[in-house]
Amino acid sequence: MPSLKIYNSLTRQKELFTPIFPGYVGMYVCGPTVSGESHLGHAKPYITFDVIYRYLMYLGYRVRYVRNITDAGHFEEEGREAQDKIADKANHEKLEPMELVQKYTNLFHQAMARFNCLPPDIEPTATGHIIEQISLIEVILAKGYGYEVNGSVYFDVPKYAADHDYGILSGRSLEDLVENTRNLEGQDEKRNKVDFALWKHAPEGHIMRWKSPWGEGFPGWHIECSAMSSKYLGSEFDIHGGGMDLLFPHHESEIAQSQIATGKMLARYWIHNNMITINGRKMGKSYNNIIRLSDLFTGTNPLLEKPYSPMVVRFFILQTHYRSTLDFSNEALQAAEKGWNRLFAAYETLQKLKPNTNEFPSDPELEEKVKGFCLGCEEAMADDFNTAMVLANLFEIAPVINALKGGQLQPDAITGSTLETMKQTFHTYLEEILGLKDDPVTDGGKLGGVMELVADIRKSARKRKDYATSDRIRDELQSLGILLKDEKDGGSSWTMI
Ligand code: ZN
Repeated sequence: MPSLKIYNSLTRQKELFTPIFPGYVGMYVCGPTVSGESHLGHAKPYITFDVIYRYLMYLGYRVRYVRNITDAGHFEEEGREAQDKIADKANHEKLEPMELVQKYTNLFHQAMARFNCLPPDIEPTATGHIIEQISLIEVILAKGYGYEVNGSVYFDVPKYAADHDYGILSGRSLEDLVENTRNLEGQDEKRNKVDFALWKHAPEGHIMRWKSPWGEGFPGWHIECSAMSSKYLGSEFDIHGGGMDLLFPHHESEIAQSQIATGKMLARYWIHNNMITINGRKMGKSYNNIIRLSDLFTGTNPLLEKPYSPMVVRFFILQTHYRSTLDFSNEALQAAEKGWNRLFAAYETLQKLKPNTNEFPSDPELEEKVKGFCLGCEEAMADDFNTAMVLANLFEIAPVINALKGGQLQPDAITGSTLETMKQTFHTYLEEILGLKDDPVTDGGKLGGVMELVADIRKSARKRKDYATSDRIRDELQSLGILLKDEKDGGSSWTMI
């Protein structure tokens, strides 16, 4: 296996990757909370870890990739203690909680498929692992690091910090935490304001509830990832990933729980991707700048000048190293669109170029340069998954391809075997590892326009009570892989299936 260096958030340095069991890799990535539709910010971790998954497999590892679905749980967000998001949203949308969960899980899967993200090997749900979570909480209670009060169970953070390295991942100290944690309403029952919930008592009327030794309630958020990751990957596994925003308190708390339960760090390598900002600002409800993934593909969001195809978004994300922040703007995405079209056109041209049988190139200098760029892709990926450098190297090869086709370079400028290396490099890095492929909607704008027209014709047919025509449009679109959905407001939306 070639040597791979990974930046480990736990040690804050690049380290040589050595899996626990030679040849095998266990990887856990925190998945989506399916209380709503995923947005652009969510695309970054899943595309990042998809590339990592693909690359590890390319290196020859047998990878078990586990990514959970958070379909229940108690959430503590910055500065406020939130209710169960699923139950809240289900109430709001007048849906059964599991109906809501299914709706957003389906949408998430559709978006992932359009981004060409491979499905994980196991996709466990929090509601499917209540027993495992209860068992883990019982161990923590038995070891004296948790306490029960009024049917809820909390993790005693100061007690843990007294004899363990609390803050090992985030670098935060307990003192800072105490100072910066506000006393939240209804938290009188906690021994310390920094303690987090392992289990919450479900008040009357709360929809999501399960029986437990502490009465009916629902699990905390951090405990689900400790329980599910160790169930499928063991108490110590290779890689734990997620967005930088999960580093604290989520991952720090996962480590604390697992340290008590098993004495292990849960994972050896902790990988965190940086965030996407919009015009320099953090994406969030309070800034009113959330772009849902479906908005991105159809262009229906005031922040978007046009629709962008999933491959353009994927390319845009991979053009920056995963540990850097990435700023979204229409300008940046349109530049990415041009870049992606140029690179893909070069790849298509490359596939058609015929190799010569010359043993020596007529332009040895160029031959060496091209070989260097091909090797550069290999080195870039092995250096903490530097996808930006991989693309930069491929872009260096593109003009050579175009010159060979256009006749500015003689066909014997490089040898046939180097041409073969170029083809192999593009295929391996662009398609296999970066997961970029020909996009059926390379011009998303046109398809969006056509779909608007078709939906409009169908709407008129329905108005005339010509249901035969309206059904035919819907059914035939479905057989073409386009799902047309009627919305409550009389309009319709579409997604590729
Ligand atoms: Zn998690």
